[in-house]
Amino acid sequence: MPPAFHDTATRVPGHTALTIDNEMISHGDLDRSAARIGGWLRSRGIGQGERVVLCGGNSLNFVMAYLGILRAGAVVVPAGATLTERELRHLVEDSGATCALGYGDALKKLVAISRGDYELRLVVALEERTTSAVPCLQQVISEGEPLEPENAGGDETALLAYTSGTTGRPKGVPLSHANLLSSIRAVMRAWRWCENDVLVHALPLSHQHGLGGVHASLLAGARAVVHSKFDPGRLCAAIESESATVLFAVPAIYERLVEWEGIRDVNFSSLRLAVSGSAALSPELAHRVSAVLGRDVLERYGSTESGLSVSNPYDGPRKFGSVGLPLPGTELAIVDDHGCCMPPGNAGEIVLRGPQVFSGYWNLPDATRDSFYPGGWFRTGDIGRVDPGDGYLTITGRSKELIISGGLNVYPREVELVLESHPAVDRAAVVGVPSERWGEEVVAFVVPAQGNMVDSSKLASHVREHLSGYKCPKRFLKIDELPRNEVGKVLRNELVRIAGEEAR
Ligand code: ATP
Repeated sequence: MPPAFHDTATRVPGHTALTIDNEMISHGDLDRSAARIGGWLRSRGIGQGERVVLCGGNSLNFVMAYLGILRAGAVVVPAGATLTERELRHLVEDSGATCALGYGDALKKLVAISRGDYELRLVVALEERTTSAVPCLQQVISEGEPLEPENAGGDETALLAYTSGTTGRPKGVPLSHANLLSSIRAVMRAWRWCENDVLVHALPLSHQHGLGGVHASLLAGARAVVHSKFDPGRLCAAIESESATVLFAVPAIYERLVEWEGIRDVNFSSLRLAVSGSAALSPELAHRVSAVLGRDVLERYGSTESGLSVSNPYDGPRKFGSVGLPLPGTELAIVDDHGCCMPPGNAGEIVLRGPQVFSGYWNLPDATRDSFYPGGWFRTGDIGRVDPGDGYLTITGRSKELIISGGLNVYPREVELVLESHPAVDRAAVVGVPSERWGEEVVAFVVPAQGNMVDSSKLASHVREHLSGYKCPKRFLKIDELPRNEVGKVLRNELVRIAGEEAR
């Protein structure tokens, strides 16, 4: 991938590549810094295959370091700024990293980890200056000898990305240069990404969603305007002042955007595409977002393991509540519990195959074996249905979230939608909590709609009206806000823990 980004930078060196908060950099300068960082890392013995943890929020230094690590031929292990020391230690140790870069609190945690039992050969501060005894990125850039891009084999690992860990411990997903490039190219073609585009987002670059947007923008020779924090006013001001053409966001961001009081005064006329992903976008929210933006929001589906693989069409109808059609190069099938293909219209596990799909988890042979069917079909763990008429995919649940209560299957999404249709409920999340009697007991967490009280008995009769008895929650717990990760995904394992504690 470094040669691919380098080729674009050589074509449009003077174009602005990135604006992050108030800092800007051109494609040429970004490439030159990456070359020097790559050279410096190589001179310190960090090269091919070596894992380098890159931890922090969104900043130019983060992106420069990212491209520099790739230029050195090493493997980037992106880590979110909000990880606790324990979580970060898991990533460092599990990946077997020898080097780490980070700033702010992340740097302190990395230094603490390197002073403990685990030996990190090299720690670099991403800030301009540092008081700690570690080198900083500016020093690296000024000392490093530029390293020419090398034509790494496409099968070399570029990224060791960790899954969000919403259902368990994050798993390491090695992604090769070829995996990433095919994902980026499919998206660029499908969404007509070109040099004149301006992408705006406030998603963490440590996650595939935010990083993927920057990848496409860099490869197209276009511009990306990235915020380190989501603020509806700032994001809208950037869309207007930068004449943004593409917006990336997750449902949790869209929700706050449409509820923002100033939204009606924003001029969205420059936007040609607004994309939603990472979690289900309810048809109701999709309608509200589309009404505000003046164009239909486009929902797409992907995962760390399979890249971006399914999308509503750029031209042609976008169906709310559906994630669309497989992107060119991606094969999709719906299978039963034995891995046999099911005819369209039936719900089953979504399996995917294509050049963007990874080939196995890092150091987890059992998880790898369980995640593939013969022929390289990746088991996404998501449950979906393909419309027999138009072939569009709808995600109906997730097998990892499946609750088995009294031997019967309960998909949380189905119960959540019923709960959210009650006027006293703003948001709901349903989890399975271990129970001696039921195996798992269905428990609902409910965020009350503004000014409402949650009356459990009313909610219980509401769900009983719409769902079979075994799907009805045994307990309703009020919660002010659902715990979410950096990209707005509900942390279900955290809810299971809270429900378990409440029961004691
Ligand atoms: P873990 O496996 O550790 O719990 P994770 O699977 O949440 O983490 P990611 O790879 O970031 O980590 O998320 C991919 C998952 O996000 C998909 O498998 C799917 O469940 C969900 N997802 C992504 N896009 C959509 C979408 N448009 N609609 C519904 N779900 C989506």
